Amino acid sequence: MNFDGHEQIDAMDFACRFFKARGGVVEDQGLTRDILLPEAAAQTLGMDEFFRVGPEAVAAEDRSKVHAVQLHTPLLDRMLTLAGESAPFARAELKFDYIKTQGFDRLIEDRFQFHKSKIRVIKTGEARTRYLVLTCRYTAQSDEIKQGLVEICVNLDTGVVIPDMAQGLSHLQKDFSVKKARGLNEKEIESIRTVVSRYGQDLVQERLASFVESMNRRFQRDTASLDAYYQALEKEMRQNLSRSGLSQDLVREREEKIAMIPAELAAKKKDLLNKYGIRIDFKPAAAMYLTSACVRVFVRLISGRNNADFTMIYNPVTKDMDPVACQSCGAGTYDIGLCPNLNINCLNCLG
Ligand SMILES: [Zn+2]
Repeated sequence: MNFDGHEQIDAMDFACRFFKARGGVVEDQGLTRDILLPEAAAQTLGMDEFFRVGPEAVAAEDRSKVHAVQLHTPLLDRMLTLAGESAPFARAELKFDYIKTQGFDRLIEDRFQFHKSKIRVIKTGEARTRYLVLTCRYTAQSDEIKQGLVEICVNLDTGVVIPDMAQGLSHLQKDFSVKKARGLNEKEIESIRTVVSRYGQDLVQERLASFVESMNRRFQRDTASLDAYYQALEKEMRQNLSRSGLSQDLVREREEKIAMIPAELAAKKKDLLNKYGIRIDFKPAAAMYLTSACVRVFVRLISGRNNADFTMIYNPVTKDMDPVACQSCGAGTYDIGLCPNLNINCLNCLG
């Protein structure tokens, strides 16, 4: 099984959060990280209190000192098992040296598309918001199995998925809270479930591109050979049929068999489709609850004589506006318009 660099970074990021969630200290050493764990946490993990982790390639060079963090390595498998028992729920406050204070009208114009409407910034204000970073282990099952980790970032106040936020987070200063974090409430859990089922597939699409391609190729190859096989079979049966000396009953019996070939071929093709169809399953492995400063931008969407006021959020991690939640379907979007009953809607809901 091959892993690209991106997945290694994900695994490493997950591992470091796992250590921190268990009270560990993580020190960045370039490609590797030094980990200092409390005694109890080290024991459940079967590690010393102090150790070094790194990507497989580095670990291979220096196997005695660096523990590999990569899928299907013993260390990460142990962590994922432990994480599954009680999903590590880290809590952190994001720290910023600087947050943009102006120029939001320009940013909004660049970022959003307004359907038959225009936007006006009314005012801005410093505010706080909450994000949840959910690390999921995905399993794509077809004729083969492919697994990996994927991160989904959700703004808990608006329920929208924030694209590309995970990358920005790894380099950001975070104050981890060691206090036991409060769990999520029912409504938040439900909204996360919706988000995972709605966007999970899209998020892993890129990672699975070569997997999907390879399954499609095999499907086409097997379909072509099935076609060839049944064509040859039919031809042979017809040739046999034209041979003299067959009784009428035998001819009829064989003609019936020939007539059944298309149905048989269709059934075999359906089997192939099942064999190479891809089912994707997500299991949450860890969650990080982030509180962060943000900028609330109060805007007015104007469409003809109608208008509606709402707020947008500037996200200092992505240095971009968060998508806006459609007031009809809840999906995050950068394409908005005003519906006749004055809701801010995505293009799908505008119809
Ligand atoms: Zn919508």
